[in-house]
Amino acid sequence: MIYFEDVTKKYQLTRSRSIVALNNVSIEIHKGEFISVIGPSGSGKSTFLALASLLDKQTNGEVYLNGNRTSLLKDKERTNLRYELCGYIFQFASLTPALPVIDNIMLPLLLRGKPRKDLEEQALKLLADVGLKDEYAYHQPYQLSGGEQRRVAVARALLKKPKILFADEPTSALDDGTAKDLIRLFHKLHDQGTTIVMVTHDKDLAKEGTGVIEIRDGNVECRM
Ligand code: ADP
Ligand code: ADP
Repeated sequence: MIYFEDVTKKYQLTRSRSIVALNNVSIEIHKGEFISVIGPSGSGKSTFLALASLLDKQTNGEVYLNGNRTSLLKDKERTNLRYELCGYIFQFASLTPALPVIDNIMLPLLLRGKPRKDLEEQALKLLADVGLKDEYAYHQPYQLSGGEQRRVAVARALLKKPKILFADEPTSALDDGTAKDLIRLFHKLHDQGTTIVMVTHDKDLAKEGTGVIEIRDGNVECRM
């Protein structure tokens, strides 16, 4: 599903200074896995997610996604592949403030030209799946707590039924109950065949999946 071949990512800081965030990483994640990515802060976890989900491009090496050699894709093809395959839950909810919750959930697909009437029912169902009441659909994001906003962001990522779900610290800043509900939802998605790649600091949470990738200083240290 995801295959990194000697992947290096450098961020250019100034003309003469750059930082190596991933250093010659080769790794494979199979279809149907539920992988936790762990490692110290600054080790390259978010960079790994960004490259695997085609949000960012590697400096060297190749990223294969669902059999596609992604460096050969044109920008448009890359965007389409990402749209087809990937759902992404960011570390911060990143909702659009001026839109009601239901529009936030539908926004990525509305922007792709899907008619609202085809999306509304499913968006409301997802709202329930993430444990939010119907009436929240017409609330503005600022009227929701941080944890509730995160759940909206989860619903937004799930609306297009992604084959791969990427999640960066999805439970940070959630209370225990909400975090447990979210992980239960991840397990349900995993049982339905979704491949999940989740960055987490939480050692117990990391054991929930089918495997762990540990990144240290831009190197993949171990895989259990
Ligand atoms: P999956 O079976 O995990 O869904 P893919 O469809 O991405 O994976 O790839 C099928 C198989 O081909 C994988 O097992 C992967 O290791 C292998 N593969 C893909 N690209 C290469 C490559 N450039 N060199 C070697 N093996 C590769
Ligand atoms: P983690 O998610 O493990 O905390 P990151 O992948 O965010 O790590 O960062 C890895 C390294 O790359 C860090 O040293 C970080 O400062 C640097 N980095 C990340 N994103 C950027 C960026 N956009 N520009 C410059 N440096 C970055």
